[in-house]
Amino acid sequence: MTKAISYAAHDPKSPLAPFAFERREVGAEDVEIEILFCGVCHSDLHQARDEWGNSTFPMVPGHEIVGRVTRVGSAVKKFKAGDLAGVGCLVDSCGGCPDCADGLEQYCNHSVFTYNSPDKHTGKSTYGGYSNLIVVDERFTLKISDKLDLAATAPLLCAGITTYSPLRHWKVGKGHKVGIVGLGGLGHMGLKFAHAFGAHTVLFTTSPGKAEDAKRLGADEVVISKDAAQMAEHLQSFDFILNTVAAPHDLDQFMSLLKRDGSMCLVGVPDSPHPSPSVGNLIFKRRTLAGSLIGGIQETQEMLDFCAEHNITSDIELIPIQEINEAFERMLKSDIKYRFVIDIASLKQAA
Ligand code: NAP
Ligand code: ZN
Repeated sequence: MTKAISYAAHDPKSPLAPFAFERREVGAEDVEIEILFCGVCHSDLHQARDEWGNSTFPMVPGHEIVGRVTRVGSAVKKFKAGDLAGVGCLVDSCGGCPDCADGLEQYCNHSVFTYNSPDKHTGKSTYGGYSNLIVVDERFTLKISDKLDLAATAPLLCAGITTYSPLRHWKVGKGHKVGIVGLGGLGHMGLKFAHAFGAHTVLFTTSPGKAEDAKRLGADEVVISKDAAQMAEHLQSFDFILNTVAAPHDLDQFMSLLKRDGSMCLVGVPDSPHPSPSVGNLIFKRRTLAGSLIGGIQETQEMLDFCAEHNITSDIELIPIQEINEAFERMLKSDIKYRFVIDIASLKQAA
């Protein structure tokens, strides 16, 4: 067992605060990683405040982890001490079901999330990346390129794959008109990928102040979603819309912008349901309302390699861990530019 330091939520109402715990011994198939940077996902806030009703405490959030390998188990093949490595939202799955066989471990009924999941090794909960150290099965550890800025790479492990995967699944590319709803952590990665895949990309935002940045990040057009006249100009014109909004809202205003056979995929997970979309909006144009969860390990590696090749990273604000509670508050105000990343070196000062 190795001592680890972290910031944890101790209950849904209190600010995150320092917390010491122990990581498991490095098993034969395990990789031990000194965490250098960890992105801050809106899911961290949802779960730290028990907004999805499934939280266990203490909770060490964080599933956008990058760092350097410090030790490896005897059977590990992909990594050696000194390598860069990443961990996303998953640390285990059953390995034997059809989802695992298809490389879609995120849909396995027995997948284990990086934090707030039962941990078969310790009998407690899994603890995530707002900490200085993690021990993870090699199968769930990702190779990280040294070509990209390491701090700006961290958000690829969740915000990156959660937007890359549905854009690939719906085969977004040249000749498509694609909408991204919400310019936060997920949304800004969605813009970058849709643009890189060659689609005509439109950002829907509630924040007019983000329009200029959106164009820099890859939007061909920006639509203020509260402006009915602007929305009406785009009726029945989209092939695909990726909706990243973290709060319940009217889905029909976006469904009506899809062409016949168009799809809107939800990735945002609000704390209470969206108002149900109208059936008429679905049947008259045979539209699809869908959802998508992160991405499998193989596709996450493919996405990381794509980013290294195309020089894609996240636009980040690097913060010391002592500012995490303030970062959560800013996230709630949609005041995101466009992902907070924790510099884990700051934990030492907190210990
Ligand atoms: P974020 O950085 O806070 O961005 C969310 C954005 O949504 C905001 O910046 C804002 O953009 C827009 N927004 C927020 N409140 C809104 C409202 N009331 N009405 C309309 N727009 C609103 O969050 P994130 O980290 O990108 O995460 C987004 C959601 O995805 C969260 O619910 C998170 O839990 C979920 N998530 C899902 C998966 C998955 O696998 N499906 C993975 C990771 C995260 P504008 O200012 O541009 O309007
Ligand atoms: Zn996330």
